[in-house]
Amino acid sequence: MQRRVFLTTSALLGASLLGGCKREEKKSFYINRGRKIEIKLATSWPANFPIMGEGVEEFAKRVAQASNNEVIIKVFGKNLLVPALGVFDACSAGQIQAFHSGPYYWKGKNAAFSLFGGFPFGFTSNEMNAWMMYGGGLELWRELYGKYNLYPLLGGNTDVQMGGWFRKEIKSLQDLQGLKMRIPGLGGEVMAKLGINPVLLPAGEIYTALDRGTIDATEWVGPALDIKMGFYKVAKYYYSGFHEPGSVLELTFNKRFWDTLPQEIQTLITSLANEMNAKMVYNFQDKNAKALQQLKKFGVKLKEWPDEIVKAAKEALFKVIEEQSSKSEDFKKLWQQIEPYWMQNRAWTKLGLKNYLKMRDG
Ligand code: CA
Repeated sequence: MQRRVFLTTSALLGASLLGGCKREEKKSFYINRGRKIEIKLATSWPANFPIMGEGVEEFAKRVAQASNNEVIIKVFGKNLLVPALGVFDACSAGQIQAFHSGPYYWKGKNAAFSLFGGFPFGFTSNEMNAWMMYGGGLELWRELYGKYNLYPLLGGNTDVQMGGWFRKEIKSLQDLQGLKMRIPGLGGEVMAKLGINPVLLPAGEIYTALDRGTIDATEWVGPALDIKMGFYKVAKYYYSGFHEPGSVLELTFNKRFWDTLPQEIQTLITSLANEMNAKMVYNFQDKNAKALQQLKKFGVKLKEWPDEIVKAAKEALFKVIEEQSSKSEDFKKLWQQIEPYWMQNRAWTKLGLKNYLKMRDG
């Protein structure tokens, strides 16, 4: 592709030296290799899902534009081509060429995958992108996914998530005992150690379960997406969170297919995936800030966890890490890579960003 751009530019230069150029003349210098690459991409989100789904649609359009329609990515919302959580297997088997989802969904395949998605008290979105791009995270991820014939690219980040919606106020650790809460992933395992009963529910059933009291609480994402689910109508208490501080979204390709793509197409897709990855965080920031104003108007009570809950959750995290490490060699190895990077980044973020925020908002 770079070669083609170069040739077109020199063609134009040549033409202008000759004193002007007509459209037909420009065309004659254009080398069309007649290449057409079609990519079926399935997502775990409904079609047109705000922010995440829209981000992928925009990415597909950008790839078509930038490749002069040589690369066409057809995006399929959840269940249109494969079930929402069937995308990993379908892509691994080559039934689709790519998917957009979140790595923590695949912890059943390999416990280590949940760590690529993030972990409670873990990286912020900024720290996560730093680890992925400059701290070796992406290489480790590609190595592990390679065993499943998959090749991941960064596909977005939810940024810091909210702790969730509770029907009753939580004033102590005691108040959490036996509560049924919809919360997946490592966050769910940490909450289980605090006495919560974590349950998994499909997105479409959460609101009704919360309304009827079948569950006492749920987490989802943050103000922008939570407001659309209507949880504020049936649960008044909205807690800030520690369980998903910067969850990673993935744009993953079938590895054998990826390896057959010309290098310039790989570069183009990677660049536009990086663009999607960055823009999604900005979009979440923008939409969360706006939705928060709405939620305040609806009388939602914004809360922070009592200190004893935060302290117990931090202790629980290390127990969960230990348990997972004893069960999975990949998890253990990956955690050994992550932990020093995490500590190093915490020290800088604390000195820089945290102190700044204290001065700005304190
Ligand atoms: Ca969540």
